[in-house]
Amino acid sequence: MTGTVLVTGGAGYIGSHACVALIDAGYDVVVLDNLSNSSAVALERCGSICGTVPEFVQGDIRDRQCLDAVFSRHTVRAVLHFAGLKAVGESVAMPLEYYDCNVSGSLVLLEAMAKAGVKNLVFSSSATVYGDPATVPIREDFNLAPTSPYGRTKRMVEDILADWQVANPDWSICRLRYFNPVGAHPGGTIGEDPQGHPNNLMPFIAQVAVGQRDKLFVFGDDYATSDGTGVRDYIHVMDLVEGHVSALDYVCRQTGLHTINLGTGNGVSVLEMISAFERASGKAVPYEIVARRPGDIATCWADPTLAQTLLQWRASRDLAQMCQDTWRWQASNPRGYAS
Ligand code: NAD
Ligand code: UDP
Repeated sequence: MTGTVLVTGGAGYIGSHACVALIDAGYDVVVLDNLSNSSAVALERCGSICGTVPEFVQGDIRDRQCLDAVFSRHTVRAVLHFAGLKAVGESVAMPLEYYDCNVSGSLVLLEAMAKAGVKNLVFSSSATVYGDPATVPIREDFNLAPTSPYGRTKRMVEDILADWQVANPDWSICRLRYFNPVGAHPGGTIGEDPQGHPNNLMPFIAQVAVGQRDKLFVFGDDYATSDGTGVRDYIHVMDLVEGHVSALDYVCRQTGLHTINLGTGNGVSVLEMISAFERASGKAVPYEIVARRPGDIATCWADPTLAQTLLQWRASRDLAQMCQDTWRWQASNPRGYAS
């Protein structure tokens, strides 16, 4: 496939890896990002990896004039919409900012796409829309019950997209529900660069292993899981973005509304992740068991069958690769893009 793809949030963690996958697949890439949680250095490094730096527009998805200008300058074939705020705890403290950025921002984007006649969209949703599932593995037809403002923004945008697609049946929209993206490009030059205190497990472990933090706090060991710690479906970011390229190919061929999990189908506990990271890095990861984190669930992993059936995509990288690639990025960029 060829053509120009607009990547909102393309300077961020997943977006920057998506730029590499898209350029490698032959697409021209235009990134729109306000850099509220990212660095333009990531895009320069994408250029070093693939030989082409994505065109970068610094701007906000809520800025209609900016979007109109992007769509009038480029013949955009499809939009990959990653831009948004994503920290669960922060969303509890700042719900209006989350609804404004994630929901209003998506509305402005949709309006600008409609005006420009761009009808292909891949949206970053999240497994968080399922809340605490009754059973695992989680299928796409499970009940949705997000437990945070962040999760509710994702469900709202999913609903808006469904309504919009009913009203506009010539559109093609894919709602991708990601499980837990981890890892980095194998070259070690782009990766996850959390600002401040990492909320997620993998970047926290990596910062302990590299010596920036003394120890990991494990949030609870009394869950009904094999070792008592929380179990998640960690997916290598390169697998995830390859899934996006497959989804993009699919939406460019089929109109309709598609909702697809992107996960591996495997559950990994916190203690299993610590051991895997110690093996991959050769470093000790000291930890202390503390109380459960409010709002956490015991287990969450995907049934990835639909992605295999519709997209002919499945995750291929294992836990060791997730840890090795995270470690390569962390060890060569101990302070992220500021290193
Ligand atoms: P990220 O914060 O690294 O990337 C998001 C990017 O969007 C950043 O570069 C940020 O500067 C930009 N941005 C934010 N608000 C914007 C706005 N109003 N206008 C323009 N740009 C804006 O996050 P990520 O981990 O790469 O996540 C990408 C998407 O995937 C998000 O929508 C997130 O909710 C979703 N997601 C992420 C995870 C995860 O664990 N990383 C899991 C499920 C879903
Ligand atoms: N976790 C932990 N210590 C941390 C961060 C996370 O023990 O510093 C645990 C958390 O309780 C959960 C798992 O690691 O069981 C994954 O957490 P993360 O925040 O990365 O993903 P999410 O809970 O949003 O799926």
